[in-house]
Amino acid sequence: MKPCNFEYTKCFTISDVIQILNEFGNKAQILAGGQSLISMMNMRIVNPEIIIDINFLKDIISIEEKEDTIVIGPLYKQLELENWHSLKTKLPLIDQAIKYVGHIQHRARGTVIGSICHGDPTSELPLCFLALNGKIHLKSKKGDRSISADDFYLGPLLTSKNSNEMAIKLELPVRKDNFGYAFDEVSEKYSDYAISSFAVVSDNNKIRFALGGIPSKPTVIEWDMNDFKFIDDLLNDFAWTLDLEDDQHASAIYKRDLVRKVGKKTIINSINNIK
Ligand SMILES: Cc1cc2nc3c(=O)[nH]c(=O)nc-3n(C[C@H](O)[C@H](O)[C@H](O)COP(=O)(O)OP(=O)(O)OC[C@H]3O[C@@H](n4cnc5c(N)ncnc54)[C@H](O)[C@@H]3O)c2cc1C
Repeated sequence: MKPCNFEYTKCFTISDVIQILNEFGNKAQILAGGQSLISMMNMRIVNPEIIIDINFLKDIISIEEKEDTIVIGPLYKQLELENWHSLKTKLPLIDQAIKYVGHIQHRARGTVIGSICHGDPTSELPLCFLALNGKIHLKSKKGDRSISADDFYLGPLLTSKNSNEMAIKLELPVRKDNFGYAFDEVSEKYSDYAISSFAVVSDNNKIRFALGGIPSKPTVIEWDMNDFKFIDDLLNDFAWTLDLEDDQHASAIYKRDLVRKVGKKTIINSINNIK
C-alpha cells in the first residue's frame, strides 16, 4: 500500500516546528528517522496532512552529560548512541538493550527520541526509559513541560505527549553506584520485534522491573529487595494481573511463563550486576 497524499515541509528551527504543530495539531506528524512513521503511513494507520521533517534543525544538542544525567537531543540516532564511547559505563542498561532494536540499518536512521515518542509496547528504548524512569521535555506554543517515564505511556502507541508538542530532549539518569542493570528479550528471531522484553534496575533496597511486549504498553512494578525470597510468587501474581490473549506469536500461557522465568533470570542478572 501507499500513503494518502500529504504535504512535506522542512524546518530549520524548533520554533518553526512548533508553529506548524500548533496550526495543524493531530493532522501533522514530525518526521525524525522515519523508520516507524513511514511504515505507519504506508499501512494507513496514520494519515497526516503534513509531515514536518526535523532533520535540518540547526543548533540542537546531540548528547551531553550534565551532572548525573545524560541529555539526548531529537536527532540523535540510535546507532550513534550504540557507538557512544561512554555507553557501557554511563548507561549500562541501554548498552545491553540497544543491539536488539531492529537491524543496524534501522538504528542508523532511527532516532532515540523517535522511538520513545512512537511508544511501541515491544520497543526496547521505551522500556529502558521506563525502567530508568527518565524524563522527556516537550515544547509547544503554550510553553515547556517535562514528563517522567512513569507518566508517559498510556497505551499501545499512545503517550501523554499532545499533538501540538515536540519532544526536544530526553534525560536519562547516569549509572549509580550500588545499582545493577539487566536487559533480556525473547523474540522469534534476533532483531524481530520482541514477544517479551525485560529491563530491571536493582539496588540493595528495591527491584524496579519493567516489562515490554506482553502488556499493551511498557509497564513497570517495584518490589522491596527484602521480598526477593518470594520472587517466584511476586512474578506469578504480576503475570496474572496482565490482561493477556493468545496471538499469532505466542499463547497467553507461554507469555505468563516468560514473565515468571525470563523475568526471574533478568532480575537475578541485575542483582549480580550491582556494583
Ligand atoms: C523493519 C523494522 C524493524 C524494526 N524493529 C524494531 C525493533 O526491533 N525494536 C524497536 O524498538 N524498533 C524497531 N523499529 C522501529 C525503529 O527503531 C524506529 O527507529 C523507531 O521506532 C522510531 O524512530 P524514528 O526516528 O525512525 O521515528 P519516526 O518514524 O520518524 O517517528 C516515529 C513517531 O514519533 C514521532 N516523533 C519523532 N520524533 C519526535 C519528536 N522529536 N517530537 C515529537 N514526536 C516525534 C513521529 O511524529 C512519529 O509519530 C523497526 C523498524 C523497522 C522499519
